[in-house]
Amino acid sequence: MEKIGFIGVGIMGKPMCKNLIDSGYKLVVYDVNEEALNEVVEYGAKKGNSPKSVAENSDIIITMLPNSPHVKNVVLGEKGVIEGVKEGQILIDMSSIAPLVSQEVAKELEKKGVEMLDAPVSGGQEKAQSGTLAIMVGGKDTVFHQCKAILEIMGKSVLVGDIGAGETTKLVNQVIVAINIAAVAEGLILGKKAGVDPERIFEAIKGGLAGSQCLTDKAPRMFKGNYDPGFRMKLHVKDLNNVLETSRELHVAMPILAQVMEMMQTLLAEGHAEIDHGGLALFYEKMNEISLKHQNDK
Ligand code: NAD
Repeated sequence: MEKIGFIGVGIMGKPMCKNLIDSGYKLVVYDVNEEALNEVVEYGAKKGNSPKSVAENSDIIITMLPNSPHVKNVVLGEKGVIEGVKEGQILIDMSSIAPLVSQEVAKELEKKGVEMLDAPVSGGQEKAQSGTLAIMVGGKDTVFHQCKAILEIMGKSVLVGDIGAGETTKLVNQVIVAINIAAVAEGLILGKKAGVDPERIFEAIKGGLAGSQCLTDKAPRMFKGNYDPGFRMKLHVKDLNNVLETSRELHVAMPILAQVMEMMQTLLAEGHAEIDHGGLALFYEKMNEISLKHQNDK
């Protein structure tokens, strides 16, 4: 079995590591957050002192970091992965970052004979825990097949194209999710204002055409007013920034997304950067002076 290096053991990285360890893989891990790192060491992973040392002690390196600058820094920076790799190794970046940055990092690694896949995920913390993430992969077919057994421990993987295509697919995913959460909140607020219990509305419509993973996951949070992350609002805004950068470059009109982005920006301005993105409902609640929470109703 290949030795796996894993860098970035936050909300998502931690359960992904646990599933790999439980499947018998030997892991060496690194994170700048010592507390998070120690938790994964308790599962049975070895501690690395830098991305470089992780690369030196593994065959396949997985990164699960917040955004493009973190991936560039960890892979190409001082004491980065690139300083510790040897020919034949593979880097799988599972972070959600800009597709162009994936291509840039892959080009640098190629100079050292190292292959790369971009393999961002969807499904959140619960699916990371159950090993049922949706994994969208960009890269060479041969490299994908080499890594498929490892990816399958974390979820269901689909090769969507060359390097960068996984990240592009993730941008599409984030557009659909953001607009879907807004649609859930907007619709339920109307029902509540019209005097119908939103929880009953949810029960009635979830099996019909309006049903979706977003409705099923986020509406119950809205009824509890519980926005512990999950997927942090600031990370969704980060993804939408990457979307809008790409859409501007390609001259693609995204009128609905632009509005949802501004709603999320408003919430960040109000100090809600760390809440779950289902907290988009707070924007609608404030604007309409009504709460979806089943207690403390206005
Ligand atoms: P997180 O903030 O919980 O974890 C990121 C980890 O990276 C942290 O532990 C942090 O300390 C570490 N880190 C940051 N800079 C580092 C560096 N230079 N060296 C080493 N470690 C460093 O974030 P998360 O929720 O686990 O998300 C990770 C990625 O997965 C993001 O790109 C996010 O958009 C994506 N994602 C998250 C979810 C979700 O529901 N949380 C779902 C799908 C995709």
